[in-house]
Amino acid sequence: MIMAYELVIGLETHVELNTESKIFCSCGGHSSPKEPNDCVCPACSGMPGMLPVMNKRVVELAATAGLMLNCEINRYTTFDKKNYYYPDLPCAYQITQLNHPICVNGLVKVKTAAGERDIRIKQIHMEEDAGKLVHGGNSSFVDFNRTSVPLIEIVTQPDFRSPEEVVTYLGKLKSMFKSTGISECEEGAMRCDVNISVREEGSEKFGVRTEIKNMASFEAIDRAIRYEAQRHMDALEFGTEELVQETRRFDDVSGKTFAMRNKETEADYRYFPDPNLMPIVIDDEWLEEIKANKPVALDEKAEAYAEAGISDKEIAMLMSEHTVAKLLDDVIALGCNAKDAAAWILTDCAGILRKAGLKLKDLSITAEGLSYLIKKVDEGKLNRGAAKKTLIAVIENGADPIAYCEEQGFTKEIDSSMIEAVIDKAIESNPQAVSDYKAGKEKALMAIFGACMKELKGSGDPGQIRTMLIEKLKN
Ligand code: ADP
Ligand code: MG
Ligand code: ZN
Repeated sequence: MIMAYELVIGLETHVELNTESKIFCSCGGHSSPKEPNDCVCPACSGMPGMLPVMNKRVVELAATAGLMLNCEINRYTTFDKKNYYYPDLPCAYQITQLNHPICVNGLVKVKTAAGERDIRIKQIHMEEDAGKLVHGGNSSFVDFNRTSVPLIEIVTQPDFRSPEEVVTYLGKLKSMFKSTGISECEEGAMRCDVNISVREEGSEKFGVRTEIKNMASFEAIDRAIRYEAQRHMDALEFGTEELVQETRRFDDVSGKTFAMRNKETEADYRYFPDPNLMPIVIDDEWLEEIKANKPVALDEKAEAYAEAGISDKEIAMLMSEHTVAKLLDDVIALGCNAKDAAAWILTDCAGILRKAGLKLKDLSITAEGLSYLIKKVDEGKLNRGAAKKTLIAVIENGADPIAYCEEQGFTKEIDSSMIEAVIDKAIESNPQAVSDYKAGKEKALMAIFGACMKELKGSGDPGQIRTMLIEKLKN
């Protein structure tokens, strides 16, 4: 008889935090290094006698991530040493958290085509990353730039039931952390261990689990889960092999998983409290400060954007680039209309960037500069064409928007007598268009209006000029 099986998955997700310096020394953080071993000091390369010094920002970012995932923040949090030997780990132990992790008991809602489910977060702990081994020819090289880069590890309960749920959850974490600047989440900065078991549908008991280590691409995670689940089901259904709890690796080329080693138990790591790091106590005042500085969580932000009339497509673009979302927020805070401002950024600016071969994330205009342009256009003191020219100068040549508008005379205050003089001149030099217009050809107005605008070089309110021109032509 062929049974129906249910997949059970739990995730351990490592996320590199976007800090200026490493977790226990003052070397530059993950985005600093240019060449291998650029950002290394005696502490993070494991020289004897060096002592770790806690980076306060790591605690704040880890707690902030916990708040976003609806966790409780442990007010007393400690570090432990996890011992194992590997060449990318210069101390032969990793400083991590076992007994008192910073966050516990969170909850994330995950929505797929199959419906919405609650994924419980067991804990989030802080730890240091290991270095990187680079293999070439007959040699292997060690790059210590990544040692002691701060990580958080987010551990879920075994609550996922399908690969779709896993990928949706990871996508949610990624845009949440990226849009708030907690992590850059670029290639390799978010890595996942995927724990999988399979059980008969309706059974209460979990099956034997295997753990697929160190997966970075969502697509590979999806494929690995499908392969591994099938392997488990074949073993249970047809007795193809005996399932053992072990660590496996996914091979991208064959699309299969292979056993690496039997799963270590906690005892193998000989964990013990790190005597070199004081327990961290997060008092009420500090926690309040962390809460007050917490960026608006992605879901709330997306909701607010939607309420302001920003389209789903635009929201998706904003969520993928936290600097752009921040620019929009700042421009709104400076008094611009949300929907308008979004269009300026995602249509006007994005168009100019695209033509220049740049990406949205390369947008370098300040919120002050952009809100200045938007407001001037709104007030009718700058026409859209001139605003666009200014944007091009800003984006392509790094011009200052306010100075550029002044230099070009775009924002010159013009009184109606000046406009009148320009209109008179345009009427005089376009007799054909004037007579066509008077004979009922509405379109002929454009030629005269265009001549006015050209003369005014983009200054003046187009609406007002047009009205005045039509008025004049009537008489
Ligand atoms: P360990 O201490 O051995 O790493 P944990 O209890 O920390 O075990 O669990 C590690 C991860 O494995 C968690 O994400 C958890 O949800 C998941 N997990 C535990 N048991 C199972 C299971 N039977 N099937 C799938 N995932 C599991
Ligand atoms: Mg574990
Ligand atoms: Zn260092």
